Amino acid sequence: METQKTDKSYAIGLDVADPLKKYKQKFHLPKGISEQDCIYFCGNSLGLQPKSVQLYIELVLTSWATSGVEGHFKGKHSWLRYTEKLSEQTARLVGADPIEVVVMNTLTVNLHLMMVSFYRPTPIRHKILIEYSTFPSDLYAIKSQIKFHGFDPETSLVKLMPRQGESTLLTKDIEALIDREGESIALILLGGVNYYSGQSFDMERITRIGHKKGCTVGFDLAHAVGNIILNLHDWNVDFAVWCTYKYLNAGPGSLAGCFIHDCFKERYDLPRFAGWWGQNIQNRFLMGPEFKPVSGAEGWQISNPPILAIAPLLASMEIFNEIGMEALRAKSVKLTGYLEFLINNYCDDNLSIITPSDENQRGCQLSINVKKNGKSLFEKLTANDVICDWREPSVIRVAPVPIYNSYLEVYNFVQILKRENDKISKYS
Ligand SMILES: *Cc1c(COP(=O)(O)O)cnc(C)c1O
Repeated sequence: METQKTDKSYAIGLDVADPLKKYKQKFHLPKGISEQDCIYFCGNSLGLQPKSVQLYIELVLTSWATSGVEGHFKGKHSWLRYTEKLSEQTARLVGADPIEVVVMNTLTVNLHLMMVSFYRPTPIRHKILIEYSTFPSDLYAIKSQIKFHGFDPETSLVKLMPRQGESTLLTKDIEALIDREGESIALILLGGVNYYSGQSFDMERITRIGHKKGCTVGFDLAHAVGNIILNLHDWNVDFAVWCTYKYLNAGPGSLAGCFIHDCFKERYDLPRFAGWWGQNIQNRFLMGPEFKPVSGAEGWQISNPPILAIAPLLASMEIFNEIGMEALRAKSVKLTGYLEFLINNYCDDNLSIITPSDENQRGCQLSINVKKNGKSLFEKLTANDVICDWREPSVIRVAPVPIYNSYLEVYNFVQILKRENDKISKYS
């Protein structure tokens, strides 16, 4: 008998043929509520720990213990070399030149620093354009920047709204708004992949249209980096920021990334909040009173980098570097496509996927809107050792991550989802 796409054996076959299957073993898998291995579909919130992290941290601890301050310079793992390597790997990950990227601070802090330099409102051009379901922290940061410049978020913040009854945005609607209001927009600031709907935006196109109207264009890539293919340099994006604890698996609260296009690398005239690590490397340790920033993104650094906190990121980036984003994305498209197929095939109309079905408009996450009893369905998933997340008022977000999730986990997840959803629909 021929194998059907809905058979368990079909999922097992996909895993056998998966060129990335060995990477699952490189991560620690948490236990679910019943102390069994869980189905971890929450890498969009906090990525799993690479097993190599422990060694990377121990190496830093050892060189600190044995070399003290000399650890900056000594040995293969010297702390100065640490960040060099990271720049190269980070640049590859986001499609940039090493001079355009830096790892520093945390995400919201970087967003503020970028707005200090790139949000320069005037009475005519003072607005910031965002998407309607902007991540709350971004919204707080953006509103506070508007107020800091003496403007009012009521009139200076413009939100892209979806059409009636829809959950995602159309590129042509984004274009039309920029065309209409572009001259008053100082900054377009969107998520590369929206955290709620899972929709990814056409960043190249939005950047081009924004630039035509004289707007600065930045992206928050918290849900995009390590998830979709990025070409920030070629797309001419002005700046971007991201965290490293979601798809990049660098651990809770780990450091954040920042991209600044190389057309700004010598723009020392831009206002920036300075600190000694942004200082030109030749002058950094002269400790003179004049601040002359190093060219490129590193010129926005403030403090010396926390090496212990970078260790897990470096461990994780080694794995990304080995696989490459093309291979990861190829698996991701298949894995999420399979999840979408099974949900649509098995589940009734209590469940609907709000993430676009076009693979070019999403990463690995699917957001499932639950019409009735969503919260209790989510609790049932948890009780069945599934780790995913719940967003008010009615969305379950699931993210099968190509680096450590399998097709069989997708299959098993949908079995649980269907069973629990059927029960809920029947008894309510
Ligand atoms: C996760 C996330 C954040 C979190 O910000 P932190 O500064 O790292 O706490 C902010 N914005 C977006 C879009 C996110 O997805």
